[in-house]
Amino acid sequence: MLKEVVDYIRDSKYIVVLTGAGISTESGLPDFRSNGGLWDGKKPEEISHSSAVGSTAFKHFFTKRIVNINEHKPNNAHEILADWEAAGKVKAIVTQNIDSFHQDAGSKRVIEMHGHLRNLKCNICGTEYNNSKYLQDDSDECEVKGCKGIVRPEVVLFGEYLPEDAWFQANEEISKADLVMVLGTSLQVFPFNTLVESAYSNGAKIVLITKSETPFDYVATVRIHDSIGKVLKEISCGL
Ligand SMILES: [Zn+2]
Repeated sequence: MLKEVVDYIRDSKYIVVLTGAGISTESGLPDFRSNGGLWDGKKPEEISHSSAVGSTAFKHFFTKRIVNINEHKPNNAHEILADWEAAGKVKAIVTQNIDSFHQDAGSKRVIEMHGHLRNLKCNICGTEYNNSKYLQDDSDECEVKGCKGIVRPEVVLFGEYLPEDAWFQANEEISKADLVMVLGTSLQVFPFNTLVESAYSNGAKIVLITKSETPFDYVATVRIHDSIGKVLKEISCGL
């Protein structure tokens, strides 16, 4: 099965990679539903909802995420993808992750569908702050005189639309792809999961590597249930 993937990679001219939480949990980063489950009696989906901006639970939730990310590093799966990009094979990575691990590993062309946690931004005047503001400050109020805004992460919250430019770019990349590798995403989140369907309708080969089942397993040319790091390493050795 891996020999097949090695051949696909060799033969392909335009590889696009879609990644989700599973690639970073292999670094030890807890996925966002972890961290002890409930926050002030609410689910992570409720806490990271646009209507929760400004609440203590919201700030605690994202502070904890920033701490988690700072405590972990990209793993060899991120590094192998960066190597494949440098070698001209991978043209873009479209990620649901907000941890910047792809960039930290050296990937250049990363399309972040759900934003990132590198910095924070005032929801009224747009002033940017380093994410350390959440770690050091008790307050999430904007420091600009006269502004009554709240400083929030540059992530797409539940209840918000995906960034239009990222969505446009992702579709553009998918339309050019002859091989799409889907790594560590359960493909539950709409409209991210429709990218896989588009790739399938365009005739691209699809290699799907996740531990759990996905609703899109039927479009996979090759389906592997295993550790991403382990599988990519084996593929890399065969290239
Ligand atoms: Zn402001």
